[in-house]
Amino acid sequence: MSRLCKWMCALIVVTFVAAQFGCASSQVIGNKSSKVYHTRDCKCVGKMKEENKVPFASTDAARKEGYRPCKVCLDEKTGAKKATEPKKAK
Ligand SMILES: [Zn+2]
Repeated sequence: MSRLCKWMCALIVVTFVAAQFGCASSQVIGNKSSKVYHTRDCKCVGKMKEENKVPFASTDAARKEGYRPCKVCLDEKTGAKKATEPKKAK
């Protein structure tokens, strides 16, 4: 087995694990201070202080903890992710 092949295998494993972890670990991000939760790609999450971020496995989990859905990225009534228009290219 060549060195390059081993390196490639390691890279694939790392990528796979990272993707799995990223998807499964947190569906939404709660804000500890405002008690509002957001989708992970919401612009509010980027502005949020790292210490205020609380990951939740689902919107239900966040609501059970007393968090409210974000008006920007989530539907207020259902708390589910809004059907957003496709992202514009830069
Ligand atoms: Zn949001």
